[in-house]
Amino acid sequence: MAKTISLQRAVDFHGHLGPYLVLGLLMGKLAVNELGAKRHFGLKVIVKGANEKPKSCLIDGLQLSTGCTYGKGNIQKIKGNSIQALFYNLENKKKIRISLNKDLIGKLNNLKGHKDSEIFAKKIFHQEPAGLFKKE
Ligand SMILES: [Zn+2]
Repeated sequence: MAKTISLQRAVDFHGHLGPYLVLGLLMGKLAVNELGAKRHFGLKVIVKGANEKPKSCLIDGLQLSTGCTYGKGNIQKIKGNSIQALFYNLENKKKIRISLNKDLIGKLNNLKGHKDSEIFAKKIFHQEPAGLFKKE
């Protein structure tokens, strides 16, 4: 099992708490577990549809949870209409594509302001991934 990155650590790195940061943490952890991948060097990540803030905050969560970073060049972002991330286990070539549940997207789009977003971020941090993500 991949270790859980604390919210405090994520906020120290990223600078504020928001739902997309948390989703990046959870999505990356799910992918590492599903692929049985080694963090930092055992996988690579391609993120789609997270080009602008706040959606791009997802990428910092992904870097923390997968250990794939821009500095090492094993995470990249590409343009797309909706958020999804592709994770490749470099050792056994297994891959998984993870996107957000429709229900979750609706809730994200209805968030009003920073306070609302922070409360929602804390709430989803404790949710099971099955309620948030779609795996393919
Ligand atoms: Zn952010």
